[in-house]
Amino acid sequence: MKLGIVGLPNVGKSTLFNAITQAGAESANYPFCTIEPNVGVVSVPDERLEKLRELYDSKKIVPTAIEFCDIAGLVRGASKGEGLGNKFLSHIREVDAIVHVVRCFEDGNVVHVDGSVDPLRDIETINLELIFSDIEILDRRIQKSTKAAKADKSVAAEVEFLKEIMAVLEDGKCVRTMDFSEDQKTFVDSLNLLTSKPVIYATNVSEDDLADEGENNAYVAKVREFAATENAEVVVVCAQIEAEIAELDTEEEKKEFLETLGLEQSGLDKLIKSSYALLGLISYLTAGPQEVRAWTIKVGTKAPAAGGKIHSDIERGFIRAETIAFNDLVQVGTMTAAKEKGLVRLEGKEYVVKDGDVILFRFNV
Ligand code: GDP
Repeated sequence: MKLGIVGLPNVGKSTLFNAITQAGAESANYPFCTIEPNVGVVSVPDERLEKLRELYDSKKIVPTAIEFCDIAGLVRGASKGEGLGNKFLSHIREVDAIVHVVRCFEDGNVVHVDGSVDPLRDIETINLELIFSDIEILDRRIQKSTKAAKADKSVAAEVEFLKEIMAVLEDGKCVRTMDFSEDQKTFVDSLNLLTSKPVIYATNVSEDDLADEGENNAYVAKVREFAATENAEVVVVCAQIEAEIAELDTEEEKKEFLETLGLEQSGLDKLIKSSYALLGLISYLTAGPQEVRAWTIKVGTKAPAAGGKIHSDIERGFIRAETIAFNDLVQVGTMTAAKEKGLVRLEGKEYVVKDGDVILFRFNV
């Protein structure tokens, strides 16, 4: 899974991204600071893995990972090639979801490109660039389909549908505000429009606004209201605090630091969890003496395809999945006890894998 971080210059993208990668790349107080889109990989926190490691006395833990891509340089006029322009839009096309960082903190020392803190204006600025880019793409597609419809009448409905989408874009709205049937959704996904991608608005607040999740920050309230209108998520973060957390060496230190701030989890963990939910992702687990490991799948994935994440041989030669729910396994303590109690299920090809299933695949090679 790949998430793209976007936002106007100076809203805290690099600070957040650096925290993500701990790469420590330059974060400076001026626009166009980050030019190349950087990619950072973070592991998805999952407390279940450590418990499994204890049960199996495994050598190591391999968490599943998320890729964050820092897409700097999106400014007003980007769709017209201004700033670093179109190049950045093409990077956004490659991500599964967008993390849109919006500035909700006041700080006289940090220049805002448009002179004042106004998250809704900032969101509109960025969204409009994405909308313009989508309009261009859709326009070409409509022309192509209109031509095709002359020879093949069945394409006419497609043209009508494309025009419906176009009307929404021309109204200044993102495609994700629209409701689609399953079939329409599949078709829209194939268009790979920027504004149909799922979005998480990461409201960058000051440290003081963290503990109560931005409840008393009027900017955050506005972003929440807006996000609700376009099926988007909101996560409250403080990029600077994330940067400080990233500098700590151990998990214990991190936990302690979060506690002193009155927080249960870091902004990054919240971002990861939200993106999982937003993209309809879950994890199943595998465990053995060598390693315990988490694997990411989409909700609704059947056992063979889930096994295919590990190796294509498993999917091809799938026989069955010996499955136990994580909670059941932890309760009885060992796999042997779980088998005696009949808690280990032998699941077939049609089994839909659930979050937290601990699975051993049987397959022919
Ligand atoms: P980018 O252009 O969006 O990548 O923004 P940067 O991450 O470079 O941040 C721009 C400036 O804002 C830097 O001077 C940061 O130190 C500062 N900054 C970032 N996050 C915060 C924050 O949460 N609070 C405050 N007060 N300043 C921040």
